[in-house]
Amino acid sequence: MRIVVLPGDGIGPEITASTLKVLELASKRFKLGLSFQPHEVGFASLKPKGSTITPEVIQACRDADGIILGPVSHSDYPPRAEGGINVSSELRIKLDLFANVRPSRSREGLKHWGRTPMDLVIVRENTEGFYSDRNMYQGIGEFMPDPDMALSVRKITAKASNRIARTAFELARKRRKKVTAVHKVNVIKVSEALFLREARAVAKEFPDVAYDEQLIDSMTAMLVRDAQRFDCVVTTNMFGDILSDLASELSGSLGLAGAVNASHEHCMAQAQHGSAPDIAGQDKANPSSLVLSASMLLEWLSIKHGRKEFLHAHHAIESALDAVLKDPAQRTLDLGGTVGTRAFTERLCREIESKVPQAA
Ligand code: NAD
Repeated sequence: MRIVVLPGDGIGPEITASTLKVLELASKRFKLGLSFQPHEVGFASLKPKGSTITPEVIQACRDADGIILGPVSHSDYPPRAEGGINVSSELRIKLDLFANVRPSRSREGLKHWGRTPMDLVIVRENTEGFYSDRNMYQGIGEFMPDPDMALSVRKITAKASNRIARTAFELARKRRKKVTAVHKVNVIKVSEALFLREARAVAKEFPDVAYDEQLIDSMTAMLVRDAQRFDCVVTTNMFGDILSDLASELSGSLGLAGAVNASHEHCMAQAQHGSAPDIAGQDKANPSSLVLSASMLLEWLSIKHGRKEFLHAHHAIESALDAVLKDPAQRTLDLGGTVGTRAFTERLCREIESKVPQAA
């Protein structure tokens, strides 16, 4: 299994190093046969290669069995014409990674910030909506007719809405069998209605899964008030992006925010958060988000290839992380602890070793 590794910017290299340590250990203990192929992206690539991501790296990602991408500082990149390509959205577009799956759950012994415990997954459409960098075939979905006017086009299609709804329902079948579609149809009456039309059509194909709908504005209040009522939440690109940061922080910290970007052919592990320049290079980042993302990639690989050992490795990483996080003395700064990135990683590896002492 060839995994392309792209460390990214800011805290990216630190949390990617942690993630690789955990994956190397899991590969040995569960005989996964993972091999890692590192490539530079972001600022590390801009100067030597003239671009934050090159066509060769995109091809390597296409050819790989899986991808791990650290966060990137794309707000600080120069314009695209000068090589500043948003690595994350470029890969999502080029590999058609239409589903951004972002779980958030509270953990035993760890404070959550919402009023109730939670265990939900935001299933975010990843290829269209308001995201002008990816919603047009040619050109971009934003333009300025004159210096004092800026327009943005939001694209919603039946195809993208249908496939993201299907992803949510398939996932819900393996969980608590509930899907909530989040929308703003009371105001954005045409495109939101199209999104809901497809979600409702897919719901009819899954009679064993409960389906309801929630307006985006009240959804934010409901997440704080009563997050435990949600299981799988399906929504359009921008609503999903914002809701998932909120949900992760409510569950404990953005540093726990694992995620994958996936299609049926490709899967990219990528934390929900950004490159955290405020703490970069200081051994302060919580690597859990990227470790959890990589663990989700293992789960995706187990389903794609029918290989149980990948699923066992996924469960072992998740439960080791739960065990480490339970102890306040083992937590990183974002969770009120004092443990640095490297020490946290060592503790996590020791926990995996104690749970799986020999190669399985
Ligand atoms: P951010 O997510 O990087 O940081 C928000 C806050 O959360 C900061 O205080 C940061 O220190 C903290 N934080 C984030 N991850 C953490 C972790 N693993 N451990 C501990 N604390 C953590 O958001 P931002 O500051 O708005 O953006 C910074 C840069 O990241 C920008 O250039 C932005 O464009 C980019 N960004 C990239 C991605 C991505 O690569 N997928 C996503 C969002 C933002």
